[in-house]
Amino acid sequence: MFAEIALRNSLFEPFTYRVPEHLRSVLKEGFAVYVPVRRQVQVGFVTALSEKNSSGVPEERLRDIIDIFPLNPVFDRNMFQLLMWASDYYIEPPGSMLFSAVPSGIFKLSNFKVRLNYEDSREVVIGLSRLFKKKGNYKISMLDLFRRLSDGTAQLFVEETDRDQGSVVELSGDVDEEEIKRVSEKYPVIDEILEYLRLKRVLPLYEVLSMLRDKRILRYLYKSNIIRIKSGDLRASSYSVEEGRVIELNEEQLNALKSIERIRESGFGVHYLYGVTGSGKTEIYLRAAKGVLNSGKSVLFLVPEIGLTPQSIYRIRSSLMCDVAVLHSGLYEKERIQEYLRIKNGEVKVVVGARSAIFAPLRNVGMIVVDEEHDTAYKQEESPRYNGRDMAIKRGQIEGCVVVLGSATPSIQSIYSIKTGKFSESRLTIRANNKPLPEIDIVNLSRSKAEDDDVEGLPFYISDELYRALIDTINNNNKAILMLNRRGFNTFILCRSCGYVFKCPDCDIHLVYHRQREMLLCHYCGYNQRLPDICPNCSSLSISKFGFGTEQVEETIKRLIPSSRTVRLDRDSVSNMYDLENAISRFSKGDANILIGTQMVAKGHHFPDVTLVGVILADMSLSVPDFRVQERLLQLLMQVAGRAGRGSESGKVIIQTFNPFEPAIVATKSGNMDEYASIELVRRKNLFYPPFSRIILIRSRSEDAKKAEEVLMIFKNALSGLKRSEVLGPVKSPIERIKKEFRYQLLIKTVEINRVRNTLKNLIPDVYRLHHKVRVSIDVDPLNML
Ligand code: ADP
Ligand code: ZN
Ligand code: ZN
Repeated sequence: MFAEIALRNSLFEPFTYRVPEHLRSVLKEGFAVYVPVRRQVQVGFVTALSEKNSSGVPEERLRDIIDIFPLNPVFDRNMFQLLMWASDYYIEPPGSMLFSAVPSGIFKLSNFKVRLNYEDSREVVIGLSRLFKKKGNYKISMLDLFRRLSDGTAQLFVEETDRDQGSVVELSGDVDEEEIKRVSEKYPVIDEILEYLRLKRVLPLYEVLSMLRDKRILRYLYKSNIIRIKSGDLRASSYSVEEGRVIELNEEQLNALKSIERIRESGFGVHYLYGVTGSGKTEIYLRAAKGVLNSGKSVLFLVPEIGLTPQSIYRIRSSLMCDVAVLHSGLYEKERIQEYLRIKNGEVKVVVGARSAIFAPLRNVGMIVVDEEHDTAYKQEESPRYNGRDMAIKRGQIEGCVVVLGSATPSIQSIYSIKTGKFSESRLTIRANNKPLPEIDIVNLSRSKAEDDDVEGLPFYISDELYRALIDTINNNNKAILMLNRRGFNTFILCRSCGYVFKCPDCDIHLVYHRQREMLLCHYCGYNQRLPDICPNCSSLSISKFGFGTEQVEETIKRLIPSSRTVRLDRDSVSNMYDLENAISRFSKGDANILIGTQMVAKGHHFPDVTLVGVILADMSLSVPDFRVQERLLQLLMQVAGRAGRGSESGKVIIQTFNPFEPAIVATKSGNMDEYASIELVRRKNLFYPPFSRIILIRSRSEDAKKAEEVLMIFKNALSGLKRSEVLGPVKSPIERIKKEFRYQLLIKTVEINRVRNTLKNLIPDVYRLHHKVRVSIDVDPLNML
């Protein structure tokens, strides 16, 4: 018997090993085994088993699998199928995909202890690495242990004592309220923790750490004697929530819930919840989850990492009244393993996590929820590249369960899937708390300056409307947020009298201005032109290069409105957690009344007394060379607009632009994506962009520019005969050089995705062998085109 084995670093070709006699009846696909690799022993995964040796290497020259890894099956059939699909789909070697789906520490035996139960009811607890030492009294084989773990006469666990014991945090009995106040002024994030601690009394240490995301604050709290750390029962602390009040769903919500339940009863299906922020989507997920749990199945919640706040987790726990595993990037190796084991053993039936939680070893999955479905954080941008949202749909298909996607600003891809009937849909049109949505004004910058010049001394990027609204806001003791959605590119070119921006005639993406050569360049196909002096649209001489940032806006506001107190939030002013919390805290406590920043201001924090949101120059992010910029702009504008009027007073939003008729900007006024989507879908169809084609972006980088380009030519030539496909490039990447390396890219648009995939896979081994000085990466369904 022969096994194909994927190793951590192997490419697409598997290695073949002989299966020794004693493992023949136990090994299955998805099992981890120990194999010899040159003079070492490595862990690998069985990807295929066969009686025939099809490796091309004579049987006597093949080597034997050494042993079975005791904690098997690492992947059950469904998970193995999902991962092999992902490996194929994303053109990532199986080993890379499989290994990334488990906590890295699970192959380190020293991480585990094992409890062995004997027939005479003796119980032995021993470190796993000691168990396999030659001299140990309890020595058993890997296979024996595997059998014992499977039949329940042995259990694995992490930590020194018991799997449920660990460090917990509680408030010190006699804390000085003054001190707490002082400390929380410095680090506002701890307000939340303290409140949570008051509510629950104890929390696992790892949870507190993940909320703080920084050990220094914890040390501070500990040193100031505000909290105590002791050992305690981790699970009890997680359980100690109070049951949330039961909310009566409104009619829209009830209909949505019914639709989800209908699908759930019939098996696989994708349901989309399209509803404004605050319309009660989460309430529906939770209600549906209850039904799933009652039927004995489990639930997987995916949220963007930023959504994993203590409140949101508490809300899930208190609503479902059960133990919840939380998977996020802040877990330590052992905690990750611990959560992994709890899920795998069926001890928890609800998992909440960021994109990698898609790999959670839940069994019997009854529902998968992807909240904020449009968020690009679901895409993993390094190898293995995958999209958690898309994998959620695939996993749902494999598990035969319902997948619920939700957003206030659906992606164009999803709208298309709804329109074509691939997804069913429910709409939630009213806010559950009946708060009106803010009023949105679109101000035409090219007009407002020319016609009335009431206010003296305003620069072009502060309209009279915005200026007056800022003064009103401050006079009424309210607060404002100003956003300058600058991203990636400093220089941005547009006609100031008609708003014209330069686009590639073939790709319809924005051309990027290259200073040294005074040229405009298309970063998809290489088209270029000189920057003209006269606007091709209105023949004026008003073509301008803009290169201003948040700092300049801040200075201007300070000068124009002396009574303003500003605080800035961007990557230059905030380099770490403290700065961020400080800026946020100055604003939320009222030390500042105008928050000025990049798109960082659109996310996360809740400021009830913000009544005005101003977008300085909405066109600015349109200069990014990406065919999805308009879609992203609309999502960003709606998100930042949602910052206004969350408290008792209603909000106002002013969007300044030179392109007031750009569909993505117009659509923010109604907040309805349908109209925009129908325009955008026509554009995408004409230009052969997704969802009407599939795209693959191949990137190369090397210190040798010529080599980087040559490698891409190999791919291009191999793809030359393809029908219904376009292969654009190779061209320099929009960011041409990072460190010392030159970057090139090749863009493939195709409907023949399987043929392209096979061609690429066949080329990769040779390309890697012959051009080891060039690094090549393949991005299937890329979201970031830079
Ligand atoms: P979303 O997920 O769409 O942003 P949420 O589910 O978080 O919306 O609901 C927003 C707020 O409204 C929450 O505080 C929630 O408890 C409350 N809420 C949701 N549905 C109802 C309802 N039917 N009646 C009253 N309050 C509701
Ligand atoms: Zn013009
Ligand atoms: Zn082009």
